[in-house]
Amino acid sequence: MRKPIIAGNWKLNKTISESTELATQLAHSLSDINDREIVIAPIFTCLAATAAAIDNSPIQLAAQNCYPETSGAFTGEISPYFLQDVGCQYVIIGHSERRQLLLETDALINKKLHTAFTTELKIILCIGETLDQRDSGQMLSVLEQQIKGGLANVTAAQMNSVVIAYEPVWAIGTGKTATTEQAQEAHQFIRNLLQQLFNLEVASQIRILYGGSVKPDNVDALMKQEDIDGALVGGASLKAEDFVRIVRFN
Ligand code: PEP
Repeated sequence: MRKPIIAGNWKLNKTISESTELATQLAHSLSDINDREIVIAPIFTCLAATAAAIDNSPIQLAAQNCYPETSGAFTGEISPYFLQDVGCQYVIIGHSERRQLLLETDALINKKLHTAFTTELKIILCIGETLDQRDSGQMLSVLEQQIKGGLANVTAAQMNSVVIAYEPVWAIGTGKTATTEQAQEAHQFIRNLLQQLFNLEVASQIRILYGGSVKPDNVDALMKQEDIDGALVGGASLKAEDFVRIVRFN
């Protein structure tokens, strides 16, 4: 059985006091959860305060990005080593907003993964096609390229610390969710590809999250799909009530 993960990506939102307030509410409301992992990803400046707010709760801390070097003359950057130092258990890598706005390539994303592997951080690797790519029939080849590029030279053992998030770009922040069939098709494709690239054990153990306008009213149907092992949630993770309901999917 794969333990589901519900991860909240707070993006560029919430001050230190707002992050602390939300994290404290979540820690209180979700203290009984042990059959699924809960992860929240505040902005860098809020990581320390959020770590303190969720201490002794089942909630884990993630960063939204990292630099592909450990330390040195890289002004303004933050590495997996320092994310672990501040209390993160996870790092999100390759979010589509960074691929689009900051022109992150699969090669750069792959380098970030390899640097994160030198720490104990677990990685949420985001992939997903744009609407143009889907409409022109390139969805599967785009996913294949992102998986092969992002996971280049990664070993089966290293895959133990990787989670994949399938996030169709056209569904992120748009209110348009992939249908359960569309999501399941992509997840099954990704799992089969991982079996080819690694082995059956990796494919059957890896968690593949769905992301793209997950809300309290669509989470239950999505989570019933065989190959969907959780969700990466943007907008709806900013409200305690909504995120709690999503974590408590049934
Ligand atoms: C995301 O940021 O990863 C995301 C899926 O956002 P939203 O839930 O707002 O679509």
